[in-house]
Amino acid sequence: MSRGELNAVHAPAVLRPRSTVNAGTLIIGASQAGLQLAVTLRGRGDTAPITLVGDEPHAPYQRPPLSKEYLAGDADHGSVALRTPAWYAETGITLISGEQVTDLALSPGSHPGGAAITAAGRQLTFDRLALTVGAGARRLDVPGADLGGICYLRDLDDATRLRSQLADASRVVVVGGGFIGLEAAAAARNQGKTVTVVEAAERLMWRNVAPVVSEFYRQAHERRGTHVQLSATVTAFTGEGGRVRGVVLADGTELQADVVVVGIGVVPRTELAERIGLECDGGIVVDAHARTSVPFVVAAGDCTARPHPLTGEGRVRLESVQNAQAQAAVAAATLLGSIEDPRSVPWFWSNQGDLRLQIAGLSFGYDTVVVRGTPDSERFSVLYYEDDRLLAVDAVNSPVDYMVVRKALDRGTTIDADKAADAAIPLKSLLGAGTEAAA
Ligand code: ADP
Repeated sequence: MSRGELNAVHAPAVLRPRSTVNAGTLIIGASQAGLQLAVTLRGRGDTAPITLVGDEPHAPYQRPPLSKEYLAGDADHGSVALRTPAWYAETGITLISGEQVTDLALSPGSHPGGAAITAAGRQLTFDRLALTVGAGARRLDVPGADLGGICYLRDLDDATRLRSQLADASRVVVVGGGFIGLEAAAAARNQGKTVTVVEAAERLMWRNVAPVVSEFYRQAHERRGTHVQLSATVTAFTGEGGRVRGVVLADGTELQADVVVVGIGVVPRTELAERIGLECDGGIVVDAHARTSVPFVVAAGDCTARPHPLTGEGRVRLESVQNAQAQAAVAAATLLGSIEDPRSVPWFWSNQGDLRLQIAGLSFGYDTVVVRGTPDSERFSVLYYEDDRLLAVDAVNSPVDYMVVRKALDRGTTIDADKAADAAIPLKSLLGAGTEAAA
């Protein structure tokens, strides 16, 4: 493994490469999607060279634990790593870590292949190209944003920094009441910190869950001693000696803070795709088979804007390990010339302290929700429907409901909404009794 400077992706291309390597299949982005793509290629018997290049100084690791077990101190670098160094050698996958691709060009005409140049001055020529470049944390651009103690939580280095900053902090302000913000808030609160969550919208996790779930989480976090401020906008950070001391809100309130965690979403990294003229629209546009607008270039994971994984309609950008893996496997098949059924049921989880939220399906577009159980018991689930067709479930400490809905979505069946509303009826007994979902 070699390490290079971490230049911005906009850095000018190094025109005279110091070395040239034939990468074979070049996979740019060494995270969960990139690794899965390489694994699937090998699993399908592809013996051609594979090069996996990433700008992070670490070999691919699991991202979800960073805001959960890792922050809580229950996981470390070793336990989040996805593969051992020996595995890369055994499978003949060249991993280049800590080296950012700063320029990219395709061969002229419709001939697959091209070349990439890294910040360390290395040229990687390739026969096949996959972009699994992910997304970067959206930055909060207000006065004081550069003060020490203002942390983001996207990669392993972010998480390590935040973990050490939390150790000495007593007052923590979390900006953003989405999954990342709330997971970090729960971890900080469990460590006995005074925690305030500042959310710009009227409710928590509004992008992904129904109001009943948002309100449950607001109350549950408040019960555990976390303050939640909704409809609150940060206008500035104040500091002392270069370190953050306060968070100023639009109404003039100033919240005291030793550490601030900003979790306000991500921005897909489309720069390289744009450099080679791929269509981008809130992500790198791909079809159900992970083909970009240049069909011999594939893309997978958080960086893509893709058709709905079950219906094949519209365009969605999904930020989940499940999507990264399923889409990467499809992309690998596509690279090998095999066009297969790309359907997969989306699933996701968010552990906020002792509250385990599991989501199957995609709920957007719903017209009806069914609540099973009582939110006050901290064990309930919410099923989402559109025209009586089951779309998704949010299950709070209810793994069985989650599994049953996942199975129904996989089979393409629905679950009768009226019966599902009766928590005394096991959901499993309704599985299979539903009508075939509209194709
Ligand atoms: P993440 O994966 O970072 O949790 P989400 O999009 O799920 O991303 O959640 C981010 C949350 O941050 C959203 O609820 C959004 O309303 C909120 N948010 C975005 N910008 C701001 C801001 N400037 N101040 C407070 N909250 C914000």
